[in-house]
Amino acid sequence: MKWNVRTLFTEERKSLPIQDELDLSGLEWSGEYPFAKPVIVSGAVTGAGGIVILRCTVEYEFSGSCDRCLSRFSRGGKLETEHLLILSDEDSEDENAILLDDSYLLDLDDVIQADLCLEMPMKSLCKPDCKGLCPSCGQDLNAGVCACSAKEVDPRLAALRQFLENE
Ligand SMILES: [Zn+2]
Ligand SMILES: [Zn+2]
Repeated sequence: MKWNVRTLFTEERKSLPIQDELDLSGLEWSGEYPFAKPVIVSGAVTGAGGIVILRCTVEYEFSGSCDRCLSRFSRGGKLETEHLLILSDEDSEDENAILLDDSYLLDLDDVIQADLCLEMPMKSLCKPDCKGLCPSCGQDLNAGVCACSAKEVDPRLAALRQFLENE
């Protein structure tokens, strides 16, 4: 959605509440479309002395497949974001600033999409300590140890395990 923020620059208004649901289901990330559900944005644009700032919280659900164990997963996430809104490039050295044209329209979809892209992890993992798949038999090692890794166990440890199991 596009928000007209002109009144904040003219100081007719001090604050404009932002409440939006973005459809980013078409956004591709390493061959997947991770934002199947609407992305919820809430916050405000505030203006004081000609300084206009967008602050909002972005709530999303990220779904994808794990790079290690290949399972499908989805995870909720939250992102706090803040941008200075400016009318001309020369007003700011802030590379995070959003440049508006003379229509004063803030394209929230564009801004939030760019913020989310910066947040995306390099690796897509179902959990940070995912054990992945066994390279020999393909078993999901998160579900348990497979027969091949059991074989590689140090014989002394295996003896101990057997002892403990028989207890
Ligand atoms: Zn995984
Ligand atoms: Zn195995």
